[in-house]
Amino acid sequence: MKIHSELQHFNVGPFKVKQPLPNSLVNGLSPFLLLHHAGPSFHAPGSINTRLSPHPHRGFEPVTFLFSGGLHHKDSTGAEGWLYSGDVQWMTAGRGIIHSEGPSEAFAETGGTMELIQLWVNLPRNHKMSAPRYQDLKADKIPVVTANGFSTKVVAGNYASVAGPAETFTPIDAFMVEFKAGGAAAYTIPQFFNGIIYVLNGSVLLDGSKIDGLEMAVFEGTGRTIELEALSDGKLLFLSGAPIEEPVVSYGPFVMNYQGEIKQAMLDYETGKMGKLDF
Ligand code: MN
Repeated sequence: MKIHSELQHFNVGPFKVKQPLPNSLVNGLSPFLLLHHAGPSFHAPGSINTRLSPHPHRGFEPVTFLFSGGLHHKDSTGAEGWLYSGDVQWMTAGRGIIHSEGPSEAFAETGGTMELIQLWVNLPRNHKMSAPRYQDLKADKIPVVTANGFSTKVVAGNYASVAGPAETFTPIDAFMVEFKAGGAAAYTIPQFFNGIIYVLNGSVLLDGSKIDGLEMAVFEGTGRTIELEALSDGKLLFLSGAPIEEPVVSYGPFVMNYQGEIKQAMLDYETGKMGKLDF
């Protein structure tokens, strides 16, 4: 287990983003490619009026966990939707999609606190060119396991014999966890899987080490049970996944296996093969 403190901050459209993964020490932890944590940021009513302009994706799955706030998205398949606090959008970019995402009109109007994580999950080679799709996972459809001061929302995979609603192309556990000071919980990473615990806020103790807010513990290929003790109230994201043992070549919004496939993705985007989105 290694603990990484978040290292980079930058702006993505209207969002101030922290990037725990990749960082200077870990260049992805297959199948997990990237983690962006936006917020928590407070917005006064009417003060937020920008969004991410239309952009493409190919070859992986961008997953948005909305901890607080309201989002709107629209894409080149003609789909459009809204996310509210506790909702998750599991998108399969597959062979290509163009989308735009930003604060929902209602959130912009009333203001409030926005906090989200976007995770990029790699796709195995045989699914990189799958048809694009979304799974819109509403908060009330995500089961919660509550015990010993930990409340674990099972988004994907299994926890305590409870199955999450997300369908994934490779085995993945993804949990949104809230904890109370003094609580305790155990999470298992299967043998050969990679795992991540990213603490959004608060502190937990693991093997005598403290993991604070904005820190990430990574577990590389080491199956084990992780026993956490909460030192304060807080939130974390738990991820575990079977590594995809294939070459990775990524360039901006495209994640493929070989350089030539990146060139093809750029060409397909430029020639309209990923569809169109005017916004
Ligand atoms: Mn995007």
